[in-house]
Amino acid sequence: MKTFYIETFGCQMNAHDSEKVIGTLLAEGYSQVETLEAADLILYNTCSIRDKAEQKVFHRLDQFKKEHGKGKVFGVLGCVAQQEGEKIFERAPHVSLVAGSASYTKLPQLLVQLESGDRRVTGLSLDTEEAFETPFARRGNPHRAYITIIEGCDKSCAYCVVPFTRGPERSRTSESVLKETRELARMGYTEIQLLGQNVNSYRDPSAAAWDFARLLRAVGEIDGIRRVRFTTSHPRDFVKDIIDAIDENPALCNHVHLPVQSGSDTVLSRMQRLYTRDEYMRRIEWMKQARRDISITSDIIVGFPGETEDEFEGTLALLEEVEYDLLFAFKYSRRPNTPALALRDQVPEEEKSRRLVILQEKQRSIQIRRNSALVGVIEETMVEGYNQATGQWIGRTSQNRILNFTHPVLAGPGQGQTLLGKYWNVRVTRAGPNSLAGEAVA
Ligand code: SAM
Ligand code: SF4
Repeated sequence: MKTFYIETFGCQMNAHDSEKVIGTLLAEGYSQVETLEAADLILYNTCSIRDKAEQKVFHRLDQFKKEHGKGKVFGVLGCVAQQEGEKIFERAPHVSLVAGSASYTKLPQLLVQLESGDRRVTGLSLDTEEAFETPFARRGNPHRAYITIIEGCDKSCAYCVVPFTRGPERSRTSESVLKETRELARMGYTEIQLLGQNVNSYRDPSAAAWDFARLLRAVGEIDGIRRVRFTTSHPRDFVKDIIDAIDENPALCNHVHLPVQSGSDTVLSRMQRLYTRDEYMRRIEWMKQARRDISITSDIIVGFPGETEDEFEGTLALLEEVEYDLLFAFKYSRRPNTPALALRDQVPEEEKSRRLVILQEKQRSIQIRRNSALVGVIEETMVEGYNQATGQWIGRTSQNRILNFTHPVLAGPGQGQTLLGKYWNVRVTRAGPNSLAGEAVA
């Protein structure tokens, strides 16, 4: 059993967890294959943030259960594994491994148990003080590297499974984060993305006791690192020093993702979000008053139990006031174990859908307005790809906007020279709701 196939669902934390799992398996002598058919071990790294994400995983397991007869071994990792635990064996009897992210440090032992023929192996303990650190992470992107600095969550938002699926908060030492960043810079990575469920709740467990802003500054000063991003920030722990750090160092990207969830104080209180609309808006003001033009993005949940039309209107008003550059909007989804399950007055599904559409339409017009204001501006992009169909390079600005552009000489990769991974100035010539288009500047 020495080849494996892995499919990843969900957030960037999961994407990076998979990179670490892949590295761990390669170090154990496995080789990765691109198709399920070619694999001996099939792993799904799962997401359970909303019901739909969870159903996708069971659908996938169902779809391929016949493969079990061919001697393949199936494993479920991540949030669904942690949430459902051994129940997965009942629902999908062909699964042999179930392990949550807090148990990945034990993965080599679990693999040995599987190899020695154990039919059912689990890693489900949340009782850990460690973050999953491995020297073996096998990163998929050659230019941008994810680094997890904090795992788990100590908050208890009424709708959210994360505290149950990813366990308590544990931060890595600043020394280990800086060492990994220096190594990545030496390998040629120029962009670092610091990750955590609440990245700004970071607290260095070593004697140095750095907070997030201190760590951010230090990462931004490492030679060779041109861009540092971070996600996700929790409003409650968002201090002005983070904005000061961004103002001081252009290597720290001028983009902050600060999920608000709702623009209504009563909903925020029912959600147990630990801040009011005013407190959130104070943080927005800090960003608007910064020297650099900081792009602000957010997450919203519509149809939280009991959400009235007035409360929903409060969210629409907040959108107008903040003018986000991008929004991830979701219909509230009932999740196991969460306090919101006990709340009465569920908003009907059609009403949630109606509110989601209204919200998305409003946001679309805001994005058209804000992106149009950039026409004529020159932006530095990091080139991430090439679109054969349109003949455009795909760049990303420091503010995290996609800026597709043409280049007068380099009309595509494979001509001995490529723009991939390079930083290139581009003049914006057109704007759409979700991206910009432009021309390379010499
Ligand atoms: N820790 C981050 C924070 O507090 O803002 C969010 C992390 S969560 C993985 C990503 C997003 O999923 C949340 O911001 C929220 O909008 C959404 N989400 C979480 N639970 C949800 C649920 N039960 N239904 C709908 N959306 C949900
Ligand atoms: Fe979930 Fe709230 Fe923790 Fe974010 S802060 S991961 S929304 S419980």
